[in-house]
Amino acid sequence: AFEGLAERLQATFDKMKGRGKVSEADVKEMMREVRLALLEADVNFKVVKKFVNDVKERAVGQEVMKSLTPGQQVIKVVNEELTKLMGEEQSKIALAQKPPTVVMMVGLQGAGKTTTTGKLANFLRKKNNRKPLMAAADIYRPAAIDQLETLGKQLSMPVFSLGDQVNPVDIATGAVNQAKEEHHDYVLIDTAGRLHVDEDLMGELQRIKEAVQPDEILLVVDAMTGQDAVNVAESFNEQLDLTGIVLTKLDGDTRGGAALSVKAVTGTPIKFAGMGEKIDQLEPFHPERMASRILGMGDVLSLIEKAQTNVDEERAKELEKKMRTAELTFDDFLEQLEQVRNMGPLDELLAMIPGANKKALKNVQVDESQIGRVEAIVRSMTSHEKQQPSVINASRKRRIAKGSGTSIQDVNRLLKQFEDMKKMMKQMTNMQGKKKGKGGFQ
Ligand code: GDP
Ligand code: MG
Repeated sequence: AFEGLAERLQATFDKMKGRGKVSEADVKEMMREVRLALLEADVNFKVVKKFVNDVKERAVGQEVMKSLTPGQQVIKVVNEELTKLMGEEQSKIALAQKPPTVVMMVGLQGAGKTTTTGKLANFLRKKNNRKPLMAAADIYRPAAIDQLETLGKQLSMPVFSLGDQVNPVDIATGAVNQAKEEHHDYVLIDTAGRLHVDEDLMGELQRIKEAVQPDEILLVVDAMTGQDAVNVAESFNEQLDLTGIVLTKLDGDTRGGAALSVKAVTGTPIKFAGMGEKIDQLEPFHPERMASRILGMGDVLSLIEKAQTNVDEERAKELEKKMRTAELTFDDFLEQLEQVRNMGPLDELLAMIPGANKKALKNVQVDESQIGRVEAIVRSMTSHEKQQPSVINASRKRRIAKGSGTSIQDVNRLLKQFEDMKKMMKQMTNMQGKKKGKGGFQ
């Protein structure tokens, strides 16, 4: 998403960056371009108007900061205002005082409710160590129940269902009761959608709301629908009093207008963003990071957070200690490989690094098969060999190569790399030792 908008804004700013002085006329000219870029990205026109005025007012009247050029100052203001537009701070999912926290997923057909229900269950378990129960309350769409049950199986997480002959209100109530009995801390209710907002649908959703008193009503909207997403959000909000929005399909080539307007128009915070069809492609929505992304400032924070979810801190400390004493074994090595794997496809991670050029990245084929080969070699070692690689002699190498379907050269290369790595760590450790008291590398 946002490529078009990002490109235009960055081009506009690039023109200003080099200049020592920026006149009021320059600012006006720049804001004219920003305005056009936003409108073209399908941002609501009222939102654009207010945005441009706010920036102009601040940028023109602002005192000059020494560390920034006037061009950078304007970019800073645009960045701050973009952030504000999308909600200022990250807005977290509710947690009820008394469990279970009841979450109702609502939205039009095809917006991504069912998918997001699975993604959210996965997120809550992985990130917050929760035990959610999913509930299948869409009895109309053919195979909607199957779809949720399949997600449940894939995640090994429970799905509450009473088939498609029972009233959705009773299904929702039944799910909440079961969650209480089985001590689930969240209930995620997947509801039915329609092609358009209609009275029937709203009536049913209101009855479910009445019956289960949800702590959170999340509207799932398809970001690809642009302006329509904003209208949909407005009507759902009027009828149901939403507590949050999930924008899906932000991975597609949406022009970004929905993300930039929906909070401003409805006053409802965007809590999550769907970034793909896969189960782990749901991210907490960070207005600040999104703004930086649009303005091309990279997304270091997202990268760090992604790494943190997957690396167990205790283990990381232990590993660090091993590295310091250079006791690293192939068992540790394997574990590290796994953790890198869990972070997701490597090219996706690379794309988040600031300055990483998307077009250039397309030509970089991250060689996942190489990692697979390394893993196979390590797995073909005995535990003695993994702990003490120095025992690996020629006949052991032959056996390992055969067991992993690789060649002796491959095995040699890995052993060499491993030794180099240990050496390098030792050097780093020594350096760190000398730097002690000054905070070392941190
Ligand atoms: P529902 O009718 O609201 O329950 O929508 P579904 O969950 O069945 O999703 C409709 C389609 O959108 C499915 O093909 C999903 O895989 C797809 N989808 C959902 N979220 C995303 C997303 O964040 N990105 C992409 N690319 N596709 C998504
Ligand atoms: Mg569905």
